[in-house]
Amino acid sequence: MPPSYEARFGIVWGAMGAARSCLDAAISRSRTREVFGKPIGATQLIQAKLADMFVEYEKGVLLALHLGSLKELGALTPAQISVGKLNSVREPIQIAREARVILGGDGVTSGSPVMRHMANLESVSTYEGTNEIHQLVVGRALTDLAEFS
Ligand SMILES: Cc1cc2nc3c(=O)[nH]c(=O)nc-3n(C[C@H](O)[C@H](O)[C@H](O)COP(=O)(O)OP(=O)(O)OC[C@H]3O[C@@H](n4cnc5c(N)ncnc54)[C@H](O)[C@@H]3O)c2cc1C
Repeated sequence: MPPSYEARFGIVWGAMGAARSCLDAAISRSRTREVFGKPIGATQLIQAKLADMFVEYEKGVLLALHLGSLKELGALTPAQISVGKLNSVREPIQIAREARVILGGDGVTSGSPVMRHMANLESVSTYEGTNEIHQLVVGRALTDLAEFS
């Protein structure tokens, strides 16, 4: 497999680690931060956010595991790596954003890891293929029609 594909495959996993860190920070804060006499984690709106973040995190890790299995079999295609790279950057950015919301004002400080992960994920969304280029790769695989050669 060419080195660029290896790098993209690594991002599929690495970005989910950033998502995990943001999710952990959000869960931890939601259990301890009290507003209106109870932890914010006891509110339905915060639990819905955490549940949605967790679902996307789990889906991303399961996709990474699946792509890893295909890689071990020597059956992983560039388009499948594009699916993984696209998902493993796009969704962790959303998870980081929701974590930032749950951490409130503290979420924008260096006291939490969230903004560091978000800035890093924004960089990762550009290198090793932007979201748009990976969408074009997947679109080409789906349609057999190429926007680029
Ligand atoms: C932190 C970082 C590290 C990097 N490291 C490396 C490195 O080690 N080696 C290396 O070679 N490069 C590296 N790069 C460069 C990176 O690969 C490019 O920035 C990336 O490929 C995008 O190219 P560009 O910046 O020229 O944007 P452009 O090509 O100008 O694209 C601008 C925007 O237009 C979109 N776009 C382009 N074409 C289309 C289209 N046909 N349809 C729809 N949208 C489109 C893009 O998705 C993007 O959002 C790095 C970049 C960053 C941010």
